[in-house]
Order: sequence, then structure tokens, then C-alpha cells
Amino acid sequence: MAFKDDASFLHFVTMGALGTRVGWAGLEQAGHRIVELERYCCSNKIWATKVKRLRLPDLLCLRCGRRFEVRTKTSLEIKMSHSPTNPDRVWDAGMRDNDVAVFLRCRDEPKLAVANTLNCFEVSQLRATQPLARLGPPKSASEGAERDLTWPSWVPSASGRITAIEANGAGTRLTVSYANGRQYTYRANGKHVYGQVGTTFVGEEQILASVVPSQADVRCAGDTWTPIISAEASPAEIFTALKGLTYRLADGSTDQIRAMLDHADPRIRLEAAAALARRDEAAGLAALSDALNGTGDSTPWALEAAFILAEVHTPNAIASLQVGARSAPHPEARSACLWGLRGDTASLATSLQAATDADESVAIHAAIVGATQILNGESTTLAIAHLEGDPKRAAVAMEALARAQSPSYDLVLAAASAAGAAGNWAFTALSRMNPDAVRQSAAWHDAPAAMKDGLTRAWFSRESSWLDGDNQHALDVLARQHL
Ligand SMILES: [Zn+2]
Repeated sequence: MAFKDDASFLHFVTMGALGTRVGWAGLEQAGHRIVELERYCCSNKIWATKVKRLRLPDLLCLRCGRRFEVRTKTSLEIKMSHSPTNPDRVWDAGMRDNDVAVFLRCRDEPKLAVANTLNCFEVSQLRATQPLARLGPPKSASEGAERDLTWPSWVPSASGRITAIEANGAGTRLTVSYANGRQYTYRANGKHVYGQVGTTFVGEEQILASVVPSQADVRCAGDTWTPIISAEASPAEIFTALKGLTYRLADGSTDQIRAMLDHADPRIRLEAAAALARRDEAAGLAALSDALNGTGDSTPWALEAAFILAEVHTPNAIASLQVGARSAPHPEARSACLWGLRGDTASLATSLQAATDADESVAIHAAIVGATQILNGESTTLAIAHLEGDPKRAAVAMEALARAQSPSYDLVLAAASAAGAAGNWAFTALSRMNPDAVRQSAAWHDAPAAMKDGLTRAWFSRESSWLDGDNQHALDVLARQHL
């Protein structure tokens, strides 16, 4: 099984994705119209195949063209990953001077919660003050390992207000009054203070002083950007322009984009295909379908093509995902196609087909996508029809019914009256549904007494035991503490 059961890695990826979403929302409040520049930066889905993307900031404003890198930390700092000996992994690789690094604080207890104070710095100012930043030890023993580069800063630990700023020969002294009435004086020697007397701040989530001269003004400049593809530009710049053009459907740039289908870099070719697929151009859809067939070294591009088709999400793109879910040669590409169909009305049919995939990981993806599908009348009927026949498909159909928000109880009750496996699956789905909702359905009244009795017994624990529900988790946790 190729599932990475690594809770700490998931925690880390989730924090990044949540932070990018919070940054996105904050930037939209500042007038920007944000899209993902680095694909998947807002997702916490873990894939075994690594897609080696261009080094680019996470987000892009379609109006002003400004780009934003979002960094989320449990302890707020101005910190970037840096590998001094690898030009592709230096902290500012692929960054423009006017790109903005956004730093956010994330609480992780009791659950992940990202504060919505955006601490923004322009790359030009971080570059200018890089000599003042501290370089941490290598994070691993490998050659060219990443290190942390940290620009010294001060984040007050509690909320409060600046009451005095004094500059003298010895440097700047900053006096704050915390909400609990306590006064504190911070020696901001060599650091610049962001605020003046009277400025209020939020503890733990706001950088109040640092070696960087000023915080970036991130208000959107308005509709000032015209993305243009220049064939001589760097892949990162062409990629940014393509991303901008992707969302401008009627600006006559289709020929410019089509020319990039022959670019030497596969990432540019795929991004051009994405822009064309969004315009429903056959050449773009064909390039993405071709990429879905990649194996070996091309497997990452098969996954990327699936991610792109999910993003484009036109009827033709959805149709390509349905084909890819069945026929992409690499199993993880088939999983990525299924994943891209989540929530779509057509996803249940594809998931039921894929439930018998020879690769177990694909079948599991099919199960979760099918099981979390929002059921309408048509898909409820489809799920019930699959309770009979192949047991792997029946199990997915049963999960879909059991997890449905408000399925047609009448249809499921009718199915449960059938003899054999199909009736058993339907009964099992009912046993996992909300008892009150099932009892209130029209068909309950006329259901056979034996079925009502059976379901009442099946629901007995959840309706009677104080240990059912959340307490089961507490029991499991304590049961593991036996050494
Ligand atoms: Zn903008």
C-alpha cells in the first residue's frame, strides 16, 4: 500500500494549505483578485509522486499581477528556507523584487487555526537586509541541505498598545502596554518599529519590529496588469503570464498561448494546455489527455494533467478525467483523476467502476470519492443498483448511501427488503443512518415489522450507550495506554 501514514507530515501540509487560504482571503480584502500560482498550494492531499514545479510564489493577483508567497508558522518569524549552495533552492529563487512574502501565525491546539493578521514584506527589502538574517544549521546531513534563514524580529506575546518610542544614541526603545495592564520596554536596537504611539497590536500573531525597514503595502493597484508571453523570458515568467491569460478568455491571446505548446519545458507546455483547455480548445485538451498517459519519468506530468483538468472542470475536462480514471497507465494518475471528480454529479458512476481497479490504492481513492459524493435521486438509484453484484462495488455503494446527508430513505428501505446480499448491504446502510430520520420517512410506517425490529436492535447502542459516539475515541486513546 502506497499510503503515507505520517500524521506529522499531514499536519504540516495542512497548516500550509490553511495558511495560504487565509492569506488569499486577506489579500482579496485588500482588493486583489487572487488565483493559485503554485498549483495545489491550498490543498493538503498527499501524493507519493512528487511533481517538481517551478520555483514560484504561491498566489497571483489577476488585476495587478503581484505575486505572494505565504509562510505559516506556529511560532511567527520572518523565516525562509534556504540552501546557499543550490541556486534552485536559495530562498529567493524565482522571486521578483516586488513579490511579497506573507507570514502568518498558526495555533495548533486544540486544532489548527490560522490568525488573519497578514505580516507582509517585499522581497526587495528582504534581499537588501539578507546580511542581517541568521542562517540556521542544515536540516539534514545531506549535501546542500536546506537551512532556515531568519530575519530578526519581535512578536509581542500578548495584545496591547504602543505607549512610547524613544530613539537615542543606544538605539530605539519601544514601550508597550499589554491588555492586562503590564508595561514592557523592548530594546529594538537595529530594528525598525512598525507603528507609532497609540498603535494597537495582537499578541503572537503580529510582527511589531524587525531588521526589515518596512512592511509592504499590499493594497491592490487595480487593473494595471497586461500579461504578455515573451518567448525569451524565463520559464517562471512565462508561467506567470500564462496563468494570467488562462483567466482572460476573450482577449485574443490564444495564438500566443498555442505557441507555448512546443516549449522545451514540460511545465510550460502543460500550463499552455491548461489555458487552452479552459477555452475549450481541442489542442489543449488533447495535450492534457496525452500527458495523462505518462509513465516512468513522465508520471509527475500525468498527475499534473489530472490536477489541471480538475481545475478547468468544464464538461470536456470532466469527461477526460473519467477516461483517465479508467485508463491512465500509472495508478496514481488514475487516483488523481478520481480525486479531481470529487463532488461532481458524475463521480459516483466513475467511482463504482474504479472500485474494482487492480491497484488497491486506486480502489481506495474510488471508495472515498464515491462515498463522499452528494447523492441526488439519480445517484441514489445508481448506488442501490450496485448493491447487487461485485462486492467491492457494493461496498462503495453502501458507503455512499450510509454517508449521504439525506438520501431517499424510502428507496433504501425498499432495497433492504430484498433477499440476499443486496438487501444486507441496504440494511447495513440504514443501520448507519440517523435513526430519527429513517423513522420519519414515509416508507418506515409500512416497512416489515422484522426490519423495523432489526434496525431498532442495530441502533440500540448508539441510542442507549453513553459510551457510543465521541467517548469511543476517548476509550481508544486510553486503551493504548497500557504499558
Ligand atoms: Zn492586485
